Amino acid sequence: MARGLPKRKPIPGVKNIIVVASGKGGVGKSTTAVNLALGIVANEPHVQVGLLDADVFGPSIPRMMNLSGKPQISSDNLLVPLVNYGIKCMSIGFLVEEKAAIIWRGPMVMSAIEKLLRQVAWSPVDYLVIDMPPGTGDTQLSISQNVPISGSVIVTTPQDIALLDARRGAEMFRKVDIPVLGVVQNMSVFICPNCGHQEHIFGKDGAERMAKEINVQVLGNIPLDKSIRELSDTGQPIVIARPDSPQAEAYKSIAATIVKQLHKEKT
Ligand code: ADP
Repeated sequence: MARGLPKRKPIPGVKNIIVVASGKGGVGKSTTAVNLALGIVANEPHVQVGLLDADVFGPSIPRMMNLSGKPQISSDNLLVPLVNYGIKCMSIGFLVEEKAAIIWRGPMVMSAIEKLLRQVAWSPVDYLVIDMPPGTGDTQLSISQNVPISGSVIVTTPQDIALLDARRGAEMFRKVDIPVLGVVQNMSVFICPNCGHQEHIFGKDGAERMAKEINVQVLGNIPLDKSIRELSDTGQPIVIARPDSPQAEAYKSIAATIVKQLHKEKT
């Protein structure tokens, strides 16, 4: 651990923590986090996966995972995660009205996140996937310094501005000694469903160039695809709804690479 950093306290019963981050909002971070968590289970059905929605200002995990209602309280006074598609989920969206968190300030946000990390009956979990808030502000930094994170995944589109922000994200993780497992290039290409023509709406190969520059790997490319959006919006992530589609295969391959990379980092 780098000198001068606070000691990170593990979450009891949680073996690996993977954070999914993005330099800015709207690039598909939550969609990636959800399909990544499901991809890990699809690849290795015996593993236990948790999904924590730390995006307190715009929690989307309840909708994407088709979950609602209030968590039960366990006998040892912990919030019991809600489960769907085999994933244990926790989100501020289960605890407060959808719009309530928007007016929160720093300390309230951090105490809410602390609660979601530590006052939840996660155990046992092999991989806890954290959907981070977008950007590189104080909240992201505090999460990074609060728990031992095994690795970070940065989601970006191939567009210049998104890439600049993603680079800032990678720098933040490196400063606090968290391995950057790689970059997911989302909305990499649009394939016309009628004629099969490929259109690079947000530019081409941007993530490859950035990844080379900052010396990280591109974990995979996800196309801009109408079914990814439609299925996520109705709470049936594509890895579950169309497990054999090329899009689901892309998420599963990214999940496999991440798990492999994680174990490499540990040795
Ligand atoms: P973020 O977490 O970065 O704010 P989301 O994952 O919420 O972004 O995605 C924003 C919107 O884009 C959602 O409506 C989602 O369904 C859609 N989306 C994400 N990835 C894709 C994709 N590869 N193809 C089409 N739509 C996508």
